Amino acid sequence: MALQHFDLSAQPSLDDSQTLFSRGRHRAFIKVQDGCRYRCTYCIVTLARGAERSRPIEDIIDEVNRHHRAGVQEAVITGVHVGGYGSDNDSSLYALISELLERTEIPRLRLASVEPWDLPDHFFRLFHNPRLMPHMHLPLQSGCDSVLRRMARRCKTAEFERLVDRARSEIPLFNVTTDLIVGFPGETDAEWQQTLRFVERVGFGHMHIFSFSPREGTKAAAMVDPVAEEVKRLRSRELHALAESMKTAALDQHVGKEYEILWERRNQTGVWTGYTPHFHRVSRVSGMGLSGKIVRQTICSLDRPSGRLLAMDPLQTIEVIPV
Ligand code: SF4
Repeated sequence: MALQHFDLSAQPSLDDSQTLFSRGRHRAFIKVQDGCRYRCTYCIVTLARGAERSRPIEDIIDEVNRHHRAGVQEAVITGVHVGGYGSDNDSSLYALISELLERTEIPRLRLASVEPWDLPDHFFRLFHNPRLMPHMHLPLQSGCDSVLRRMARRCKTAEFERLVDRARSEIPLFNVTTDLIVGFPGETDAEWQQTLRFVERVGFGHMHIFSFSPREGTKAAAMVDPVAEEVKRLRSRELHALAESMKTAALDQHVGKEYEILWERRNQTGVWTGYTPHFHRVSRVSGMGLSGKIVRQTICSLDRPSGRLLAMDPLQTIEVIPV
């Protein structure tokens, strides 16, 4: 099937899912807690949102079941510091996910951003249940321990790497995505090179790259030795290029494999967009109504310019039905 006749870049009207998780009728965001007890030196959230507060498990289960009854196929668990769930109500993220898997029937549960600490060793066993999607966004922020110390991050590089290894040893091709701050105050060339080497060694399916900008009221805003804007720009460009090649390498590993794909939207040229369990974006052409359907399909290739996986259309149909 010649997908080049169809415009992969023509976006549906809802949103273009440039952010990590797209919104849509088939995905609901469930906020399970607020606040954070940590004090990363660049973070304004913790000052603005206060202490950790977890919602009761029963409320969360009810909300997920309500969404499922309304036709939502995927619940994304969110919060300010999701890994801290339960610190104030004698529970834990592990207990919450276990209960959700047991007491809801929504086909897909997904974790959004989770700080790479406060997770027990056995956490990744939860992913043996195929309803928990094999993807986590674990913010790294820097791949250099001296920078992480200045950021007051609780997880240094060796612990981060161990966490990722554990995830990938439990679930092959487990997708780890991350955030990284470029040009944190005092970041030297040597520290930057350490970050690049670490990032390359771990390998990420996707990276959100931020150039450091001070937030008033944070410790980092008062730090001396800022990195010049031009240096930040160059480092950011370098990291974007690395992120792109890591993403391509990660996507390549899925070609030829079969996945349950949640189809979401179709653009005006008849190209459907959906997501694999690993949260890789997939496209196919079909005249059928696929919205909200979970269909088992083979990934036939990777369209490199758009960075999308392409799914074989078993019916080979290219008829475009107006939306
Ligand atoms: S753990 Fe996350 S939310 Fe908490 S202070 Fe650090 S960056 Fe902010």
